[in-house]
Amino acid sequence: MTYQALARKWRPQDFASVVGQQPIVTALRNALTEGRIAQAYLFSGIRGVGKTSVARVLAKALNCENGPDGGPAPDPCNHCKPCEEITRGSDLDVIEVDAATYSKVEQVRELTESLKYGPARDRYKVVVLDEVHRLSRQSFDALLKIVEEPPEHLVFIFATTEIDSVPATILSRCQEYRFHRVPTAELAAHLRTICEAENIEASDAALFTLARAGEGSVRDAIALLDQLATYGNGTVTEEDAERVLGGVDASFFHRLLSAMLEGDRTAVSAMAREVDEAGWDPRHMHGEYLHYCRDAIHLAIGAEASQVDLPATDRDALKELVESVGYENILRLLHNLLGSESTVRRSEIASLALEVAWLRAAELPRLVRLEDLVAGGGAAATKRNAKSEERDPTASSPKPQAPSPDPKPELPPTEKVYADPAIARLLEEVNRRKPSLAAHLKEAVRLALADDVLEIHVRAGSTWLSTRLAKDANKQALEEAVVNAIGPGTSWKLIETEASAEAPVADSEPEAPGSSVPGTAADNPTVQAVLDIFGGTVEQIDDRPDNPSDESP
Ligand SMILES: [Zn+2]
Repeated sequence: MTYQALARKWRPQDFASVVGQQPIVTALRNALTEGRIAQAYLFSGIRGVGKTSVARVLAKALNCENGPDGGPAPDPCNHCKPCEEITRGSDLDVIEVDAATYSKVEQVRELTESLKYGPARDRYKVVVLDEVHRLSRQSFDALLKIVEEPPEHLVFIFATTEIDSVPATILSRCQEYRFHRVPTAELAAHLRTICEAENIEASDAALFTLARAGEGSVRDAIALLDQLATYGNGTVTEEDAERVLGGVDASFFHRLLSAMLEGDRTAVSAMAREVDEAGWDPRHMHGEYLHYCRDAIHLAIGAEASQVDLPATDRDALKELVESVGYENILRLLHNLLGSESTVRRSEIASLALEVAWLRAAELPRLVRLEDLVAGGGAAATKRNAKSEERDPTASSPKPQAPSPDPKPELPPTEKVYADPAIARLLEEVNRRKPSLAAHLKEAVRLALADDVLEIHVRAGSTWLSTRLAKDANKQALEEAVVNAIGPGTSWKLIETEASAEAPVADSEPEAPGSSVPGTAADNPTVQAVLDIFGGTVEQIDDRPDNPSDESP
């Protein structure tokens, strides 16, 4: 027999086995008994409290063949055809959709189209739409039509962890049920039931510790029990529970946050393995780290020290780190990490999910702070420059310059052919990381390799390329690309060349710097943050003459 995760095995299959949501279960059973069936239900509450499990039980209740008087069954039998198929997830009339992976408006349109027809076999066609708040605005609109005027025998069950993000137009058409965090004592009692059935030996104190760490989520608490029982070969001690859940102090998270912000993949990966080797619970660790990053955000927006739940020395260290990288960078990092939260929680290989989530976060390019840009180059960028100089004394670090008397940029790129395959490879690498930077590089008068140094020749007095290369994100992308394409120990430098010494260039009119190149706009920190959070691409830029652009070349 293959191993089945405890959380899945103990998923409630009828209303009686739902833990900690008694009022909801009673209300639903009564409604079923009286034949009051709503057309749309909305289940809200934190992760792992039984929203989708209850949705499935409700789908069974609506469709069970053994209900009284040939109608819905307040207590589904669990052995008729619809019941069995719904348990397996193979009933054609019960459609389960995760909005997180189903957010394209075409997909939603296709779904609503298919819902116009009645159920194929069952009494009701039931659509369970999980994480409904993640649908895009257009998808909601597409959905709304059918929710407003649903065909007969169609029932929607929406589930969400973020009730506040569900549009009022949908909310107003749903019967709403709020799932509560399960109290620790009730959760511990449930863990005890599982231990008895599964022959797991555990002390009350150990189970209480696990229940408390589950923070009201049945699924999380069971996943912890599963992990510890596997680790202890069927025995769970309080020491094990505390080791898995404690053990880590703020300095670990401080190192992790610094490594992520530095884009240091090696360190981040090593720390994910450290979690694994120490036997810490990956889900719990990810959650704790999110709390830590949240403290970082609070410090970044100037919260009182008392609002941050960290020992004073850790708090001061975090404050210093936060101030050096800026609010936007922390916000983007937290947003990225939050995006992988449910993946880590739900994954059955949580340690791998954790490592991937952390590595992804380390790939975010650093933004230069807007204030620093306005101030002319800025602390964050300068700090970073100083650092890379230490690491690689040959790399040039062009200082932000006063606007050149002749702001004419290098002439626009004519498509150049690079004879040296290493240069072509390098441009490809840069393009993969940052297409806008590759486009800028192609504007160099010449790119050449000499003694493991990439020479970027620009015309004397031109600041077009050098200011771009002074940017943190560009600098980092170029450094990585150079090492990847040409080899470790390789660096780059900027060389000013007398224009007359170079071959003549094309004579078309150059574009005004920063006026309308979408790639250039995408370098803007604010624009990047918007793109990161909301997605999309820059298509058009309207110049506002009265608004001095921070994108000055
Ligand atoms: Zn049945």
